[in-house]
Amino acid sequence: MRNYDFIAIGGGSGGVASARRAAEYGARALVVEAARLGGTCVNVGCVPKKVMWYAANLAQAMRDAPGYGFTVGSTHFDWPTLKARRDAYVLRLNGIYASMLDKAGVDVVRGFARFVDAHTIEVDGERFSAPHIVIATGGRPEVPDTPGAEFGIDSDGFFALETQPRRVAVVGAGYIAVELAGVLNALGSTVHMLVRGPHLLRPFDAMLRDELGAQMREDGVDLRFGTRVEAVTRQADGSLRVACDGGGVLEVDALVWATGRRANTDRLRLEAAGLSADARGMVATDAFQNTGVDGIYAIGDITGRAELTPVAIAAGRRLAARLFLGQKDSKLDYDTIPTVVFSHPPIGTVGLTEEEARACHEQVKVYGTRFTGMYHALTEHRPRTSMKLICAGADERIVGAHVIGEGADEMLQGFAVAVKMGARKRDFDDTIAIHPTSAEEFVTLR
Ligand code: FAD
Ligand code: NDP
Repeated sequence: MRNYDFIAIGGGSGGVASARRAAEYGARALVVEAARLGGTCVNVGCVPKKVMWYAANLAQAMRDAPGYGFTVGSTHFDWPTLKARRDAYVLRLNGIYASMLDKAGVDVVRGFARFVDAHTIEVDGERFSAPHIVIATGGRPEVPDTPGAEFGIDSDGFFALETQPRRVAVVGAGYIAVELAGVLNALGSTVHMLVRGPHLLRPFDAMLRDELGAQMREDGVDLRFGTRVEAVTRQADGSLRVACDGGGVLEVDALVWATGRRANTDRLRLEAAGLSADARGMVATDAFQNTGVDGIYAIGDITGRAELTPVAIAAGRRLAARLFLGQKDSKLDYDTIPTVVFSHPPIGTVGLTEEEARACHEQVKVYGTRFTGMYHALTEHRPRTSMKLICAGADERIVGAHVIGEGADEMLQGFAVAVKMGARKRDFDDTIAIHPTSAEEFVTLR
């Protein structure tokens, strides 16, 4: 038995961040990782996704270039080259994570952890104990039990694709569906999006949902709302036949299930520690990341709240500060978390949707604008930018800020600080615009 002060099960965003901080505060810390260090974000999430998004933007920039007087010769995009370079980058990051942990004095054990009791885990027959154990095991894609579902791939499978599929069906309408569909479309695949509901990005502000749908359609994505996949079959030539309800049939080279994720808690032997999970494998926690069992905490995606890398990191860091720095009140405030969807065009959003604001505030005033950004004044492709500020109360406190369009991804972080600080509309009005930018519209709305 090896004894530690702190064990993180999972070497992803939350586990690594919490263990590094714990070690920095003097704890003997251990990270147990079953697969590759860095977790979902580094290996099959944010990082490879953003690389693909940049590639898609480059493809679009080459199509935009003639508008600026460039004659673009014949261009060729080689998916295997991009994949090899992306994989090499991710491998470098795996190494950087290992050396960061080493430098911080955090031990790393490679293998799959299971609980023995509330303070002990087992990894390949070896036991480790600690008074404080954090579960940070993240999630994995979940695929519906549609007949023939196994012929499709999920987001992990997307990142493993060795060649670019010419024709793709993407099922789902969440972050992953719209991001992967946008990338594939910009890189030249024919993309069909099969959406069971009437919208993309159901929980988002209606303006964002509608603008994204309209823009994706204009960009050539075949967007089919109210469509469920009934069966998938593989044909003799290797292509897939996708039968949808209502009789629609598609023939594609790949089908991507982007239908949500479930938590990696089913094989952890939670019951040995006196814990349980819900139907999606999520572990309930209080505001301090405490589970129902003393000394066991949960952070990140397995808590089912704002499944985002910076959230897992922030929760882990605050937990370490509470346990080992004596900061008794240290906890993450889950309110007003900004987020970006790396769709085409990208979306930045923080705070309440208009619908949510109207449900919880008596006095709501909405400011908005829609325009074509200056970059697109000269291009043939002319996506629009739309913005919305949602203000509540007599002093017009900004409770929601939403933007879709060129640059939205880099625009929102600073505005999120203002919203988190309780900025009012007049604070935005008092701020001098930066010209010429798209962001300036946020401080000149009337
Ligand atoms: P993870 O990072 O998933 O880490 C969990 C780790 O635990 C894994 O490495 C796993 O192997 C390990 N593990 C599991 N079980 C065990 C066990 N029993 N023993 C030992 N190890 C175990 N978020 C953003 O903020 N921005 C983005 O742009 C973004 N893009 C994304 C794109 C995609 C395609 C996906 C899938 C996700 C994306 N996310 C993004 C979400 C983000 O990746 C997650 O919110 C984040 O990784 C969660 O961190 P975590 O620590 O909870 O879990
Ligand atoms: P989401 O929860 O965002 O979306 C799941 C989608 O799948 C929804 O559109 C849902 O439809 C649909 N769906 C669920 N079941 C079925 C089914 N049986 N048939 C058809 N459609 C179905 O999950 P994702 O997997 O896209 O992403 C997981 C999380 O990862 C995100 O919530 C986000 O927190 C994080 N992430 C963050 C990113 C970023 O920060 N840029 C990028 C990628 C992921 P319905 O709306 O009808 O329920």
